[in-house]
Amino acid sequence: MTDTSEPFAPGFIEHPYWWDAAPPTIDDAPPLPETVEVAIIGGGIAGLATALELGRNGVKALVLDREAIGWGASSRNGGALAGAGSLGKTRSDLAEVLGAKFVAELSEESEAAFESFEALVAREGLDCDFVRCGRFVGAHAPKAMEALKRRAEMINAADGEQAFMIPKNRVGEEISTDRFCGGMVLHRAGSLHPARYVRSLGQAAERQGATLAGGTEMLGYRREADGSFVLQTSRGVIKARHLMIATNGYTGKATPWHRRRLVPVASYMIATEELGEERVRRALPKLRVYGDTKKVLYYFRPSPDYRRILFGGRASFVDADTKRSGATLHRFMTDLIPDLEGTKITHSWKGNVAFAFDMMPHVGIEEGVHYAMACNGSGVTTMTHFGTVAAQQILGGSNKVSAFARIPFPTKPLYNGNPWFMPFIGMAYQLRDRLDGWRLRDRKH
Ligand SMILES: Cc1cc2nc3c(=O)[nH]c(=O)nc-3n(C[C@H](O)[C@H](O)[C@H](O)COP(=O)(O)OP(=O)(O)OC[C@H]3O[C@@H](n4cnc5c(N)ncnc54)[C@H](O)[C@@H]3O)c2cc1C
Repeated sequence: MTDTSEPFAPGFIEHPYWWDAAPPTIDDAPPLPETVEVAIIGGGIAGLATALELGRNGVKALVLDREAIGWGASSRNGGALAGAGSLGKTRSDLAEVLGAKFVAELSEESEAAFESFEALVAREGLDCDFVRCGRFVGAHAPKAMEALKRRAEMINAADGEQAFMIPKNRVGEEISTDRFCGGMVLHRAGSLHPARYVRSLGQAAERQGATLAGGTEMLGYRREADGSFVLQTSRGVIKARHLMIATNGYTGKATPWHRRRLVPVASYMIATEELGEERVRRALPKLRVYGDTKKVLYYFRPSPDYRRILFGGRASFVDADTKRSGATLHRFMTDLIPDLEGTKITHSWKGNVAFAFDMMPHVGIEEGVHYAMACNGSGVTTMTHFGTVAAQQILGGSNKVSAFARIPFPTKPLYNGNPWFMPFIGMAYQLRDRLDGWRLRDRKH
């Protein structure tokens, strides 16, 4: 007899659903030049967007990745995009801490970054299934609904009527669940196929003269008296006039200053078997991208062909194997959307994101080294934008500095990049989410 409690479909595979269509591959790594104008470490969205913008301005960059180009979070993510919607997702006290005026500047820049992102996809003809579908964020508790209202006000203050609130009695128009006490819809939000996006972005950078070298790890570097850099890589020594670090959740010992400022965290995802568009629409009628307000949040969406649901979250705070995390996420998904009970999953995977201690994304220069990192869980539009910002900083001559580049990049005393505390923080967050959920259910009875 088949075990109906098993969530795995025949042929279940532990790799990103996205890689079926666009797997990151290492072709014959190109010969490495001895000297380059700009060396970029990390071949994800941040590194490739920097290389593209540099190329458009006549500077040919070399992009190195330890694995295949695009292998990191950039080809594994949920493919959900937002402008200022990502700001304040991880903290609700931005205005109190940073000041309302500065937060307005950050919001405006984030909204503009979304528009620039759309323009870039069109200009470069990127093959990435981009759609502006809007985003629904479900409030898991009444106090979260209040925080969502403040976030909507912040977003609308930056740029008109982009966000609107959904009362509890209309949640069913957005998603088939009784777990939310309301929500917010963001208009300026969309979805794409991440592995196609990062592949096309790389191809666009190559068309502008960039060299992409997968299978090449930077092991360390030193700065010369004239300000240039000497890089030790797994395939030889390279001299570079400028150096840019774009390693986000995979930042390692080669760049200790950055590592001390990042908390890498695994995020997990699953894809259901083909359910058909009708069933997907029953669960997610407006075919948007979705998230919630829990500390340990869920994010989910239809696949680009609308036949499956892709569901993600922090299934574990210790490194978990993706069969186990797949079963956990399947349970989370069917608990949230009971109509999906009995569905099976075909793919389960994980990837690393990176949090900063201030929960803000960071772009800047330290001791002459450029960097863009700390996506805090959402980086598709931000890292694309930061690529342009970093390229302009490398090129010099731009008098408009990104507001994000003015935020100091903090660390904590004695932190060396080993996030030993994460399981404890994870447990505390999960407990808080559970208490909020119980309180909400008590109110209903
Ligand atoms: C499961 C998951 C779901 C997500 N969902 C969303 C979402 O829906 N929406 C959203 O906006 N964001 C999402 N994100 C976040 C988003 O994917 C990231 O913010 C973004 O991809 C970061 O891009 P990046 O270029 O900075 O880093 P990455 O794409 O992670 O690239 C970093 C690269 O650096 C390389 N590297 C590291 N060290 C070295 C070295 N010493 N030498 C050479 N190479 C090195 C690594 O091999 C890696 O390929 C998600 C992330 C994950 C993991």
